[in-house]
Amino acid sequence: MRITVAIDGPAGAGKSTIAKMVGEKFNLMYINTGSMYRAVTLKAMEKDISYTDVNNLCDLIDTMEMHFENDELILNGKNVNEKLTMPNISSNVSNYASIAEVREKLVYLQRQISKKYNVIMDGRDIGTVVLKDAAFKFFLTASPEERARRRYKELIAKKIDVNYEHILDEIKRRDYIDSNREIDPLTKAKDAIEIDSTSMTIKEVVEKICTHITLNL
Ligand code: C5P
Repeated sequence: MRITVAIDGPAGAGKSTIAKMVGEKFNLMYINTGSMYRAVTLKAMEKDISYTDVNNLCDLIDTMEMHFENDELILNGKNVNEKLTMPNISSNVSNYASIAEVREKLVYLQRQISKKYNVIMDGRDIGTVVLKDAAFKFFLTASPEERARRRYKELIAKKIDVNYEHILDEIKRRDYIDSNREIDPLTKAKDAIEIDSTSMTIKEVVEKICTHITLNL
């Protein structure tokens, strides 16, 4: 049976953790589209290509083979996931993701993957653009403070030296750019179910999503 699940929402709302768990339950391939924008940012910054240098950015993306294995992005044969969540990538990714040509190329790749597999995909424009026809769409939110707290804990657990206030500012700044960009801004699809997870546990959110899917299959 064909099942497609779209999960959108702002930074740190718990999308990836939740999508992985729901994906496991329904045997769906988890596609973290944010990691694709992060991979473009990583490579561009390594090669000193600014987000305004659209021609070089497009050439760069054409050299990047991206696929997913065990929920993680493999870029040109290498697992680069550790690098993708570093604070310098988080600070720059929204600028690269606001470029129309970058989005066009990544949306194309994301749709190609979704044609081959049953997927659960998370990002900012999945329910509104990439998988407009997805059978199941969810929009996950939480207060900026709660999202910053979660991100802070995650980074500290990875022994990355960070400051809570700085993460909170960063999250608010990224929300602003992602929600106000001209091309495919972060917004809830009309037919998406909104879940505010501020005072919910991961398990509760996963249960809510799984129950909805099971009842509507
Ligand atoms: O999901 P994550 O926080 O890793 O995404 C990183 C950034 O990538 C977002 O802040 C946003 O700028 C961009 N992004 C996007 N569209 C998506 C997924 C991510 O613009 N579908």
